[in-house]
Amino acid sequence: MNWTEFARWGARIADWGARYHQGLRDRPVRASTRPGDVAAALPASPPEMPEAMETIFADFEQIVMPGMTHWQHPRFFAYFPANATPPSMLAEFLASTVAAQCMLWQTSPAATEMETVMMDWLRQSVGLPEGFKGVIQDSASSATLAAVLTMRERALDWAGNEQGLSDQPRLRVYCSGEVHTSIDRAIWISGIGAANLVRIPTQGPRRSMDPAALDAAIRADLAAGLHPCGVIACTGGTGTGACDDIAATLAVAKAHGLYTHIDAAWAGAAMICPEFRTLWTGIEGADSIVFNPHKWLGVQFDCAAHFLRDPEPLVRTLAIRPEYLKTHGADGIVNYSEWSIPLGRRFRALKLWFVLRHYGLDGLRARIRNHVRWSQALADRLRADPRFEIVTEPVLSLFTFRLKGADEAAQQAFINRINDDGRIYVTQTRVQDGLVIRFQVGQLDATEADVATAFEVITALAGNG
Ligand SMILES: *Cc1c(COP(=O)(O)O)cnc(C)c1O
Repeated sequence: MNWTEFARWGARIADWGARYHQGLRDRPVRASTRPGDVAAALPASPPEMPEAMETIFADFEQIVMPGMTHWQHPRFFAYFPANATPPSMLAEFLASTVAAQCMLWQTSPAATEMETVMMDWLRQSVGLPEGFKGVIQDSASSATLAAVLTMRERALDWAGNEQGLSDQPRLRVYCSGEVHTSIDRAIWISGIGAANLVRIPTQGPRRSMDPAALDAAIRADLAAGLHPCGVIACTGGTGTGACDDIAATLAVAKAHGLYTHIDAAWAGAAMICPEFRTLWTGIEGADSIVFNPHKWLGVQFDCAAHFLRDPEPLVRTLAIRPEYLKTHGADGIVNYSEWSIPLGRRFRALKLWFVLRHYGLDGLRARIRNHVRWSQALADRLRADPRFEIVTEPVLSLFTFRLKGADEAAQQAFINRINDDGRIYVTQTRVQDGLVIRFQVGQLDATEADVATAFEVITALAGNG
């Protein structure tokens, strides 16, 4: 492809993108494809001869698009959002055009320095104190793995990477049952082992880890000769938005000298609104915190903000050039590949810069506040209808509900009716073993009318109860 053609196609695809987004409300949110449909439409072998872009693009529209679930649909109320705002898409286009590798300062000075400044902008935006340093990871899962590896190395006096784990004491990590599965996987991959991830019982309406039970579990492990190394807490757990009591949890962890990591992958974005910061009171005491601007801040996937009270233990765990790192921070040069697991890194700070400038914190706050308000209003409307029961109260914009008195099969059939209808998309979770519908508002183009449509769909398809 020559660059004249590239320019023509770029303009055409930008135009296609604008029309796609303008027409999203007319499409069903969830793909209605059956498994295998898309694969069957693709040739089994690669072409020997070049094909025209025109043909490739036509196939994209005919084969790919019908098989897409529309995450940017304003009535996407499933999972958590993965917002891609227009300025972030444009920044991604630029980043992919320049296509730099940003592993070392010298391989991309602007990307490195912008990452440092953007992470400091974010630090201020969510109210973390000065001194926290940040790095952009590819996912919350990676940030959590990096934190768990740091817990491990710190507890083993940095011997794990060198010697392996077979002759080491048995490490223990503590969390509640409300944390995301990325914590389980980090524990597997780190070699600590699922048997050493201790689940602390939860209590209260926010389903928070019981600090007294945490303390008792650590003491029992110490008495048994095991080696506690870290605590992982959550602000806004994935299932129902559970929030640990960060201050109380950190106090217990600190008393035992443990490393602490907070997973706020979804809820962290809401901390740009000062009134929501009570959900993570005490956060300034954490060693490591992750949240995903790619969820609720409109910064296109992928972009995970990882904050560290002191980056040194993380860098000591992950950097492969220890002699260089002795000067870390002292000469003003940062090589972010030493803060993360992959070596190669994309220029992710650019889209943060575009989004934060285009909307301003004020614009982003207004959207998040609306989502929280609309979601809580919807929960109240459903509560007032005798056919429904609110199972978990809204945490920010996430709540769960169910058909009152319906058995599991009827509950599942109700969820299927909602999603087959196509106007909205919701997912399910389990609360105390019972199936519930999970509802969150988070798509940045969503309007109050979209949430009203959700009420219409849910009430119309509920039957007579
Ligand atoms: C989305 C989510 C994750 C996983 O995020 P990735 O960036 O996809 O790894 C982890 N924890 C919580 C609480 C989440 O909401």
